[in-house]
Amino acid sequence: MDHKPSPSVFFHFRFKFLAVTSIAFLMYVILTSASDFSQFAGSMQFKLLGPFFIISGLMFLMFRKFPIKCPHCARVLPTKTDWTCPNCHKKQGKERYLMEKCVHCRQMAATSECDRCRKEFRL
Ligand SMILES: [Zn+2]
Ligand SMILES: [Zn+2]
Repeated sequence: MDHKPSPSVFFHFRFKFLAVTSIAFLMYVILTSASDFSQFAGSMQFKLLGPFFIISGLMFLMFRKFPIKCPHCARVLPTKTDWTCPNCHKKQGKERYLMEKCVHCRQMAATSECDRCRKEFRL
């Protein structure tokens, strides 16, 4: 077997990165918070919680829309498209985000295909 793994565009990685950062921040807030709630409510960490989750939410929406680039031919591909599922090989039937689960088999797409060069890459 000399089958090389297809190159990755780190699409799912964006969300993992965002999730890990959010969890790390929450852990930081929990671990450094004061035991007294009134003290905690007045702390800097507590004031940062709201803006932090707003920013994380916005980043999530941005990450979802931010286009991916084909690692073979460098064509910029939209993340919302009528993609073909790599598991059941069926089209979605409508425009959907690549990070969403397949409407037919409920599997998340691990790979995708370029519109132009028809080569496969990992998401
Ligand atoms: Zn391509
Ligand atoms: Zn499917």
